[in-house]
Amino acid sequence: MSTTLVVAIDGPSGSGKSSVSRAVASALELAYLDTGAMYRAATWWCVSQGLDLTDQAAVAAAVDGFPLVMGVDPAHPTVHVGGVDVHEPIRSTEITAVVSAIATNLEVRATLARLQREAIAESQVPGSFSDGRGIVAEGRDITTVIAPDADVRVLLTASEEARLARRARDVHGSDDAAAVEATKDQVLRRDRDDSTVVQFHVAADGVVTIDSSHLNFDETVEAVLEVVETEVGPRS
Ligand code: C5P
Repeated sequence: MSTTLVVAIDGPSGSGKSSVSRAVASALELAYLDTGAMYRAATWWCVSQGLDLTDQAAVAAAVDGFPLVMGVDPAHPTVHVGGVDVHEPIRSTEITAVVSAIATNLEVRATLARLQREAIAESQVPGSFSDGRGIVAEGRDITTVIAPDADVRVLLTASEEARLARRARDVHGSDDAAAVEATKDQVLRRDRDDSTVVQFHVAADGVVTIDSSHLNFDETVEAVLEVVETEVGPRS
């Protein structure tokens, strides 16, 4: 068995894929790549330059070679653009509301796909963050477009109701009716827009689906670790 492990996890908004992927990466001592943060950072970069996000050519040119540095420690993932720590601003509702405009730009997707594949390759090199042990990479097209050859591929899903309630608790600290309503744009509209270029609701061949609607966080992490063990055997 190869000592390198690449785990790819995709799924819709509010499925819990970011926090679950981080916990899985920590448990397996792997690097962690949040590809959504890369799309958010590209969006922040274009917004901070005052670009018209509907100008596809200008946006693609700005993102090509933009000064992005992703920190892949699952205990403390970081995102820097041109030396600026953008961890907080890229998660603002302002960026969340417009990120799909960047993510549906096919030239931008090609640029970020290249960076994501480079990060996955880097994680398999001795001396890198995981010292060559590998990576957990998460995001909507990871199991299909970016890493179809990953050792383990998981589609993490949950019912619409569960995803809305989770995101409402994350963003508004409550899942009462008003908080859920205020979250609909972030979860349902964004997934609908993103679905025009990426398929992440149905598992592709060879991708294992985990429905976390009725699982708590720890149970979901455990379910992913069980899939890893089934697919590649116990990790030392
Ligand atoms: O996962 P997160 O909500 O941070 O993703 C932000 C946005 O980035 C998504 O709404 C989607 O538009 C885009 N994205 C993508 N492909 C990925 C990861 C994220 O299109 N692999």
